[in-house]
Amino acid sequence: MAIKGTDIVKKLPEAGKKNCKECGLPTCFAFAMKLASGGIVLDKCPYMTPEVRAELEDALAPPIKPVTVGKGANAVTIGDEQVMYRHEKTFVHQPGIAVLISDNEPESEIDNKIKKLKEVQFSWVGKTLKADMLAVQFKSGDRGRYESLVKKALAATDCPLILISEDIDVLLSAHNICADRNPLLYPVTTANIDKVISAVKAKPATVVIRADKMEDLASLTGRLKEAGIEDVIMDPGSRDLLSAVRDQTIIRRAALKQSFRPLGYPTIGFPCFMTNDRMSETILASMFMIKYAGIIVLSHIDEHTLLPLLAQRLNIYTDPRIPMSMEENIYPVNNPDADSPVLITSNWALTYFLVASEVESSKVPAWLLVKEAGGLGILTAWAAGKFSGDSIAPFVKRSGIEGKVNHRHLIIPGKVARIRGELKEGLPDWDIIVGPGDANEIPAYLPKLVKSWKQ
Ligand code: SF4
Repeated sequence: MAIKGTDIVKKLPEAGKKNCKECGLPTCFAFAMKLASGGIVLDKCPYMTPEVRAELEDALAPPIKPVTVGKGANAVTIGDEQVMYRHEKTFVHQPGIAVLISDNEPESEIDNKIKKLKEVQFSWVGKTLKADMLAVQFKSGDRGRYESLVKKALAATDCPLILISEDIDVLLSAHNICADRNPLLYPVTTANIDKVISAVKAKPATVVIRADKMEDLASLTGRLKEAGIEDVIMDPGSRDLLSAVRDQTIIRRAALKQSFRPLGYPTIGFPCFMTNDRMSETILASMFMIKYAGIIVLSHIDEHTLLPLLAQRLNIYTDPRIPMSMEENIYPVNNPDADSPVLITSNWALTYFLVASEVESSKVPAWLLVKEAGGLGILTAWAAGKFSGDSIAPFVKRSGIEGKVNHRHLIIPGKVARIRGELKEGLPDWDIIVGPGDANEIPAYLPKLVKSWKQ
């Protein structure tokens, strides 16, 4: 449970009665309340003792630590989740999906997996959905062979790597090859933790601990924390559906509901080690997506199994309070030119994709103006005053569409025919045409309209 403002204020200078205002707030109480809600940082109060500061830093830290694997644009950040169920608020960091390659697999199989990791991707509501990471496993017993595979993975992709080896010396030497890419090291166990601590102190790394019991996981995170190592991910070792659901739920509950810091780290799930059946593996991955893995490692990537997982991930890890929306912009469809018709719609993603796909299937080149409307559909946006003539006219002017076409015909959705008059006032040079009431009428409507213009 997060610390409350009323508890924080008691720890502030003079038991919260100093009220010097140097933090920019009128009282210590106001500072405490704002600190509790994340609206201000501890540094703003210069009079806090180091002990209180450390105590508050710990109390205010996220219940599940955010951890980043990889570097740059392809880095994957996980953790920092605040709720058990997505409908309570939102899930924050979507799990990274990794594909596993092993050094005892045929070269052609490895190449194929890397190719699919790079090439299997889908466009969905304006986003590119794809897998994110490559797990590289030591299985052959030949250290040189493994190191070659790590080098090959490094050269072939920019995505974050997960290094997997039960031989800790092999794991640490592979880390030396790719440390600047911030890979994940797996597994850290009670048997090898001393070696890992001294190696990671010398060369920082993000590590995955593995233990079959919760108390052992907690003990390992405690030892790493004492050594100053906090970029940690946990594997509770579950290798069947029931125990995986149980363990993931216990960990999330302990971190969020009991504020049990030793289990306040993101987790990893290994469907790839739980079954040899691809369909079962996908079902396990789907379970980990919901219950609550930060990284999910698959044995293979196929279009037909990856797409449902990616769609599931997108659905779960979008904020239910914010509709999916498109950026306000001009979207060309079918390579339009200066004579092409101009249509306008709202920026709810579903509205955009329906209208854009119907325009596309009409085969008529057209410009589609998408107006920011709070991510709402046409009628709701109109009712909310976000798709009115008053707001559309300035958007049309600033959009730049007047420089792209040599006509002044604007087609508005038939559902908001009533805005035609006020829009005409705002855009006196434009002819406002009331278009179809439903997107599915566009393929019949647009060709006829263009033909009538030509005649
Ligand atoms: S700076 Fe510190 S002591 Fe002063 S009012 Fe703010 S919280 Fe209180």
